[in-house]
Amino acid sequence: MQKKQKSKYGLVWFTNNLRIHDNASLKQACENHQNVIAVYCFDPRHYRDTAFGFQKTGKFRAKFLLETVTDLKKNLATLGITLLVYHKKPETIIPDLIKEFSISDMYYQNEWTSEEQAVINELKRNIPHSVIFHTFYSQFLFHPEDLPFEVESVPRVFTDFRKRIEKTASIRPLIETKNESCTIIKKDTPIPTLWELGFEDFEQHSLTAFPFQGGETSALNRLEQYLFQNETIKTYKKTRNCLLGADYSSKFSPWLANGSISPKMIYWNVKKFEKLHTKNDSTYWLIFELIWRDFFKYVSLKYGNSIFRIHGILQQGYVWKQDWDLINEWIHAKTPEAFVNANMLELKQTGWMSNRGRQNVASYFAKTLNLDWRIGASYFESLLLDYDVHSNYGNWMYLSGVGNDPRNREFNVKLQAERYDPQETYQNLWLERTPI
Ligand code: FAD
Repeated sequence: MQKKQKSKYGLVWFTNNLRIHDNASLKQACENHQNVIAVYCFDPRHYRDTAFGFQKTGKFRAKFLLETVTDLKKNLATLGITLLVYHKKPETIIPDLIKEFSISDMYYQNEWTSEEQAVINELKRNIPHSVIFHTFYSQFLFHPEDLPFEVESVPRVFTDFRKRIEKTASIRPLIETKNESCTIIKKDTPIPTLWELGFEDFEQHSLTAFPFQGGETSALNRLEQYLFQNETIKTYKKTRNCLLGADYSSKFSPWLANGSISPKMIYWNVKKFEKLHTKNDSTYWLIFELIWRDFFKYVSLKYGNSIFRIHGILQQGYVWKQDWDLINEWIHAKTPEAFVNANMLELKQTGWMSNRGRQNVASYFAKTLNLDWRIGASYFESLLLDYDVHSNYGNWMYLSGVGNDPRNREFNVKLQAERYDPQETYQNLWLERTPI
């Protein structure tokens, strides 16, 4: 065990790990230092337009994030840690904090995608060499060090990946953080408002399938509700392709995406549920889906920026169009396909779309209309409450035939609608209420 450094502060930089439970950075900082402070930056670049003209973070995720950071601030205070919040670039504000508090060590979650890497590199350039960086992979279910293969050898096919890790790797226990020192610093930095991030305030849509708030507290409440209160998980495998309501699937993804719940927290609670109640194919299937999430993270770790390129990781040279009339018809729910339109309206009005819906609208965009899949992915990036760079680009590549599924498949949207919305209840809900 390292000795606590009495005079120096440790700084925890929060990014997509917005929780106090199962948080390796936080635990290590509290173990190593008498004084710990935390910082979160609403990076102005995250609220600007991206290359295809969509705002990188739209209003749904912005509001969810504000709720999340507000909750994190409260939760950190219970550990005696002050969260400083800024609406500034991290590489601008963190060097000032390092100076002001004579910070000796920084703790943060490892990120590898290009935009995040650029920020980290710039930050490192702006702070003294004496500052020690401690980085942790706490976004995975299976820790990278526990894989039975090197990252460069991650299997391209999901089933191979899953079978190999299920056979040999195990999930690490949850990390508990205690902080005994409790030195609250006298510095208050207000959390920006939605307006300051560039949005008008708005109410959650009354029909949303995601009627929850951002933050670790809501995430843990949902976990408790979905597993132990309602035992909805028992039928997950049967309901997960449905389209209506909050309970056909877990709805954990928005919290997972910004790290206000850890996948290990979900895993260990499913194990507890299996012990106390039932172990069946549904309880297994939720873990199975979390392995998909890990898979796309490892794919992105292995292939780097190829996940953002038009030919994807397969280097498939399909011909893609950038026809903005067709793209706008898709965005504004004016395609000839009612099922696509209903899903696109749900997304536009709530920031949510089911997995079944996402597969259909993405396949329609990329395989039926042959539109540049990166534009669809970029629109999702703006709108989705649960946007996660690895899952979003991984799934889009997959459905576009340039990712981990070499088959050049196209969904039959009409058949899908008949199968998953036989009474058209879902389509009626979104299409009747909103003039198209
Ligand atoms: P559940 O069905 O309850 O599954 C539990 C968890 O497993 C999810 O929360 C999620 O973390 C994981 N999971 C389930 N399916 C997938 C999958 N196909 N890929 C990766 N992880 C999965 N998911 C995101 O979290 N962020 C995204 O940006 C995203 N973009 C997508 C884009 C497209 C085109 C498609 C087809 C899928 C995308 N997904 C994305 C995956 C999936 O649709 C969502 O994770 C899921 O619908 C979230 O609902 P849930 O939490 O109720 O999932």
